[in-house]
Amino acid sequence: MGRPNVGKSTLFNRLTGSRRSIVGDEPGITRDRIYGEYEWAGRQFRVVDTGGIVPDDPELIPTEIYNQAKVALEEADALVFVVDVRTELASPDYDLARLLIRGGKPVFVAANKVEGAGLAAEAENLRRLGIKELYPISSEHGQGIGELLDAIAAALPEAPKEVDDSDEPTPALAPANDPDAATGEGGKLHRTHGEFEQHETSVAIIGRPNVGKSTLLNALTGTSRAIVSPIAGTTRDAVDEVVEFEGSQFRFVDTAGIRRKGKTHLMAEKMSVVMARRHLEAADVALLVIDAVEGVTAADATIGGYAHESGRSVIILVNKWDAVTTARTDGKPPADREVYEEQLRRTLKYLHYAPVIFLSALEKTGLGRVMNETKKVAVERRKRVTTGQMNRFLEKIDFQRAPVPMAKRLRIFYMTQAAVAPPTFILFTDRDIQLHFSFERFLENQIREAFGFEGTPIWFKVRARNAKKEE
Ligand code: GDP
Ligand code: GDP
Repeated sequence: MGRPNVGKSTLFNRLTGSRRSIVGDEPGITRDRIYGEYEWAGRQFRVVDTGGIVPDDPELIPTEIYNQAKVALEEADALVFVVDVRTELASPDYDLARLLIRGGKPVFVAANKVEGAGLAAEAENLRRLGIKELYPISSEHGQGIGELLDAIAAALPEAPKEVDDSDEPTPALAPANDPDAATGEGGKLHRTHGEFEQHETSVAIIGRPNVGKSTLLNALTGTSRAIVSPIAGTTRDAVDEVVEFEGSQFRFVDTAGIRRKGKTHLMAEKMSVVMARRHLEAADVALLVIDAVEGVTAADATIGGYAHESGRSVIILVNKWDAVTTARTDGKPPADREVYEEQLRRTLKYLHYAPVIFLSALEKTGLGRVMNETKKVAVERRKRVTTGQMNRFLEKIDFQRAPVPMAKRLRIFYMTQAAVAPPTFILFTDRDIQLHFSFERFLENQIREAFGFEGTPIWFKVRARNAKKEE
């Protein structure tokens, strides 16, 4: 819990890999409690975001704080009070701290937005809250989170041992509306709350001007059997369209933005990059649209790079395929898919995990594949590998085969999937060094071979055993 804008949602999302708790910046919106799960050191934890939009009206602040504390004390075994180190402590903070301490449960202060060493001293000021357990973190950059989680884990009694008898790897494709299948746990672990189940997939259509984004959007929303409704999007002026296709729901984010055109080419080009970043924020899956006639340009690569770094799943759509095949007018022979894909992958190397689809939004070909792949990669990105599966997997890999210089070799004691969407693995190792690039690629390839994860990037973190610092 904590005041608005201190970074509670960011922390929540980092732990659970969900963006469910983002509602918007508008003050006055009441957020319900949001539940998620994360795994740490082989144990499963439930995390509750008490929401807590503290109203502007000073009269109402104490009530809201009381409510937050009450919810937390009733429901939680440990409490994390998130504070923004860049803002001054105010009396509601002291009030909340007092209430939490009085509750008698383990309390932790997460001093958030501590990036680099400069603000670490600032975090010390928060000792005045009277809470002993203080952890400087950066939710946004993922710093210090491990120490906080270790402390929380240490303060909580070990849960009864989880039974992991699933020898089969998680199925590659499962219905998107089945939360058990999506987490791959077969319902054995305690379930996430209803609010947290994935009912729909958010889709961002991104790309340069004139590649055919709005034509594609029209075609996709037109072919689906039932258009559910246009609804207010996650940002103020955005309109999302939710569409149902073969039993799954797809939310196309900010469709107004996709249709909006810049007045000049330069403006449109700049806008397409800004829009891409904004759309990615709200999406699970990005459809990166490329113009088949023009091929991959530098701007395509820039936008693709954002998609990759944002941790979204990506599908590359080569649109206007008709114009280089059946409808070709320049006398050249029709383009060859294999050759085309090979060239494209050479330019967009970092998106090696992204499926490529050739289509014509204009002639409405390839659209079914777009929907089916979207559904598939959305499930893949939320897939969870249990620690048991991971251990068996690790035993089988021959790390000697990894092309890594001796000095950069490290020993992995064990590995655990700490988050989904994107799948994030923590490696517990003997040394506190950065993963060598070739080692990371080797490991990633092995993981993909064993578990799939089509369409999504995979993230790694290293935690040296016995080492104090995470980064
Ligand atoms: P909440 O209202 O407490 O849930 O706060 P949010 O998670 O929505 O974060 C509020 C703002 O703080 C957002 O603009 C975040 O991007 C930003 N933020 C969150 N964590 C960090 C962090 O570690 N460092 C920095 N610099 N900004 C952060
Ligand atoms: P946006 O700026 O990315 O939204 O692009 P538009 O959807 O406005 O499309 C730009 C132009 O490309 C329009 O003239 C479309 O008719 C054309 N276009 C879009 N998709 C296709 C396609 O699959 N094949 C062909 N030949 N033209 C297309």
